[in-house]
Amino acid sequence: MTAVPRICVFSVDRTIRQASFHNNRGSLTLVKEIPLPTRSTTFGTAPRLLPSMLVDTIAHNVPKMHFDALAVAIAGPVAPGGVVTKAPNIWGPEVEDFPLAFRLASETGLQTTVINDVTAIAWREKMYGTAKQYDEFQVITVSEGLGSKLFTGGQVVIGEDGQAGEIGHLTIKPGSTVHCGCGGYGHLESFTAAPAAERIARELSVGPETSTAYNQSLLAKLTGKGIENLTRAKIAAAAQAGDPFTLAFLSTLCGPLSITIGEVFAKHPVDKFILTGDFTFLIGKPYLDTLNNLVSQEIIHTEPMVSFGTNDGNSGLIGAGAAALAKLG
Ligand SMILES: [Zn+2]
Repeated sequence: MTAVPRICVFSVDRTIRQASFHNNRGSLTLVKEIPLPTRSTTFGTAPRLLPSMLVDTIAHNVPKMHFDALAVAIAGPVAPGGVVTKAPNIWGPEVEDFPLAFRLASETGLQTTVINDVTAIAWREKMYGTAKQYDEFQVITVSEGLGSKLFTGGQVVIGEDGQAGEIGHLTIKPGSTVHCGCGGYGHLESFTAAPAAERIARELSVGPETSTAYNQSLLAKLTGKGIENLTRAKIAAAAQAGDPFTLAFLSTLCGPLSITIGEVFAKHPVDKFILTGDFTFLIGKPYLDTLNNLVSQEIIHTEPMVSFGTNDGNSGLIGAGAAALAKLG
């Protein structure tokens, strides 16, 4: 191995992205996109065969002569040793406990690191991003779902099954009939993530106490008063214009998350909560300000407890590289 290991990095989510990772600046070159083998793109292939197809696709795209190590970030919980516990959005619910790191190492002959995508965000922020100065922080990412991971003691805590640090599937409303993507009910994710935001905005638009405010709002104007036309982009536009209805809606939306952040802090007083995810970046400052305002009622602190992470879409790739470097020592 050379003094500076050359690491080929991949991120696997709705698609596969590949790049060369440069550890000195945490930068990437030769970023390319590769189609992800899924049930629909492989003409209904049995789900149990999809993980091996991913191994083949990645192995086929690693120019072995040019790299010393391989690192992959994937959307799904990953247990120690790079075992993907499950990846329902990629392989469906049937596939469990796939030893992706072992299989890729066998296939390529390269030392291989496989981590969860939120774990990758934590490594990226720690090594090259907004969390450089923090020893203890929690990443929270809000998009189609809600993922989170705790960085402490120089490591991301993942636990035996890769689920440690996750707050998205904590039950925040016992007895609730609101269904969560995981199959449970009343979970934080089902009151916080982007699909929940759309549902809650629609509920408020017809609520007995809120429909009048909605009808007079900029959001109603943007949607032509047809709530079925409501999109995340319109919520973002109305929030950024300071629309009172939309800002009140953001308070309703961020309420459960702020309480959970307070509970996390009570157990583990981190230096900072780092917020990422397509949905929060889309809404931008109004989301961050609303959340910080609510969190300040839970945690007494001189500075805002929540700050945005890096918004360039490359955290999976850069974080996978950073984690591999940490492992290589
Ligand atoms: Zn859930």
